[in-house]
Amino acid sequence: MLEAPLPPGSIIGILGGGQLGRMLSVAASRLGLHTHIYSDEQDSPAFDVAAKTIVGAYDDAAKLAEFAKGVDVVTCEFENVPAKALEITGRNAPVFPPAKSFAVAQDRLEEKDFIGGLGIAVAPYAAVESLGDLKEGLARVKVPALLKTRRFGYDGKGQVMIHTHCEAETAWDKIGAAPSVLEAVIPFEREVSMIAVRAQDGMAHFYDVVENVHEGGILATSRVPARVSDSAVYEARQIAGKIAEALGHVGVLCVEMFHREAETPHLIVNEIAPRVHNSGHWTIDACLVSQFENHVRAICAWPLGETGRHSDALMTNLIGADVEQWHALAAEQGTALHLYGKREARPGRKMGHVTRLFPES
Ligand code: AMP
Repeated sequence: MLEAPLPPGSIIGILGGGQLGRMLSVAASRLGLHTHIYSDEQDSPAFDVAAKTIVGAYDDAAKLAEFAKGVDVVTCEFENVPAKALEITGRNAPVFPPAKSFAVAQDRLEEKDFIGGLGIAVAPYAAVESLGDLKEGLARVKVPALLKTRRFGYDGKGQVMIHTHCEAETAWDKIGAAPSVLEAVIPFEREVSMIAVRAQDGMAHFYDVVENVHEGGILATSRVPARVSDSAVYEARQIAGKIAEALGHVGVLCVEMFHREAETPHLIVNEIAPRVHNSGHWTIDACLVSQFENHVRAICAWPLGETGRHSDALMTNLIGADVEQWHALAAEQGTALHLYGKREARPGRKMGHVTRLFPES
């Protein structure tokens, strides 16, 4: 923990140079804070808006140490930052969120064990290290089921759907015989997420529950308010608060969940992200203090800002060629356009987003 708040003029080091780092950097600059960005890619979207940029590998101990020595605090904008990189930077600067948050989020098995261990509902699951484990797991978890690699899965990658027991061999091949988790497919009504932010003193604040639609495993839209009951909202806050506290988390934490209004509990946790999240982008335009600014405030030991929304919002990701509509979107009233400055619009690549605001319901 920091002994005192970092004053304006302090420098935040960000590991990762994607759009999340870019939006963090913009939020930091509004508060008179500077950012140094460390990324392994020359052409990083966050580089456009940082005071200093460093291109280096995430296993380059000397470069990471030098980066950390030049800043007052370090944070990360992507989930799969190697533990070693956190350790090296942590020897030279305070790092938030803590390594524990990353360790849990990076491994789907650890994540399920950890969250389930807190008494929070997760999909029925089984650890899979071999084809034998998979066959046994299928007998317990039941089909349809999803086989997901324990590590490096995102946006629906590293997943195979299994409809019948005879698909076990093919699924095991498709997943590349990698250590995995088998989990039951949850018949959900909708997918929701909770963006929470936890301060260094342990106080947590929560944004409104977000309703998310994924297409091809990638987030397509997020809307607030989510069409869920007050008791589901209460549950979502309890869940996110409990997880953040158990991790000793500092900063923004996103919890992605499946919602079923008729069941108890209403929510089943799918996964967590120990960072600012795509399903929280609407907070830039529909809240006084966005998820990015509140993350910055938390890691710098500032008071957290208001998380209430002043408008209803619908955020739509601009994926691949969607970004070509920028001119028409810029002309739309009540719409905030955000572009990430990426040069090449490849299919599946997040190029920007728009947030449409509506009077608060
Ligand atoms: P993930 O990579 O775990 O975020 O999964 C990507 C998407 O696949 C989720 O947003 C859901 O739409 C779907 N999905 C993942 N796990 C499950 C599950 N256990 N039951 C139903 N749908 C799932």
